[in-house]
Amino acid sequence: MIPLVLPSTSDAATPFVTRLGAVRGGDNRDARLLSDAGGIALYSGDVGLFTIDRPEGINLEGDIVLVDPCAGRAERLIRAGSDHNTLLVTERCDQLCIMCSQPPKKTHDDRFAAFTDACLLAPERSVIGISGGEPTLFKAELLELLETVLGKRPDLAFHILSNGQHFEQDDVERLRQPCYQRVQWGIPVYSADHISHDQIVAKEGALARLEKSFCHLLAAGARIELRTVMLSDNYHDLPRLARYVATRLPFIEHWSLMQLENAGFAKNRWDALYVDHQQDFAPLGQALDHAILLGLDVRLFNIPRCSVPQEYRRHAMASISDWKRRYAPACAPCHERDQCGGFFEWHPKDADLKVVPL
Ligand code: SF4
Repeated sequence: MIPLVLPSTSDAATPFVTRLGAVRGGDNRDARLLSDAGGIALYSGDVGLFTIDRPEGINLEGDIVLVDPCAGRAERLIRAGSDHNTLLVTERCDQLCIMCSQPPKKTHDDRFAAFTDACLLAPERSVIGISGGEPTLFKAELLELLETVLGKRPDLAFHILSNGQHFEQDDVERLRQPCYQRVQWGIPVYSADHISHDQIVAKEGALARLEKSFCHLLAAGARIELRTVMLSDNYHDLPRLARYVATRLPFIEHWSLMQLENAGFAKNRWDALYVDHQQDFAPLGQALDHAILLGLDVRLFNIPRCSVPQEYRRHAMASISDWKRRYAPACAPCHERDQCGGFFEWHPKDADLKVVPL
């Protein structure tokens, strides 16, 4: 697994954001590499000298890090060579999804200023992910970050995971600004049935509230990716959900159907929640057929390509982030490995036995 947090030392009094480089760039937040020996990289920047433990084989050149001198760590907020950079802006959430891979916490550490600095230093044309918790619980800070960054860096774009519970009529004018065309909102819908959706997210009235938000987002011309995690609770209802999406939400850009991640709450509930699409592909296949027939751009996430029948394989994306992705030993000769997301690092190993190199 690619490490995102590294031990670090610094005499600075407070945390700081800096971009690491062999030569110092034109920004006063750039730091220059002075030496790299014995697994310790020594840098010089406006804050003085600091070190970062660099694991063998890990290239830090161009990374944008948040160094916390008190905690003795450097967080790799934006890795220069990666398309999978996501900023976790809060761990608070007002839902409690039964399969949440990142269970919420009550505490909140406001790091929006550091995240804004980091985004301003991002490589050209980056797409930066934002997730939580629920980012829109801090909607004022979030929108300010987006507008500040996109105002200064028109080459950047954002993808934001949100439960869609907090968009209001008052947001519409603001979200109509041109800069929001570079923002895509990834919003989950788990069922066309209100009771079922609300049970999955553990919040009464959640789907009704979400439908209101969709009205506001539609009025704002917002770009939306709809997301559905497949669970034993909703799997057989996917064809109905496909019709709901096509008829009620035809303005979305994509519909992403996702396999379960064995992390967070799902880890202890795996046997009850996980549904093996290879054993029973019919509900998923019917949902795909409906979606495709009705003109939706549908995608499969967190699903190895060889586990999908050939006629649907073009929909299976390499969606798992590089830092938490693994392949089975048997994947080595596969010709479609570059297009395949493989497995989550922590996915049960018995799935490895089912891979069939393409
Ligand atoms: S063999 Fe491995 S790399 Fe190839 S499609 Fe299957 S899981 Fe993906």
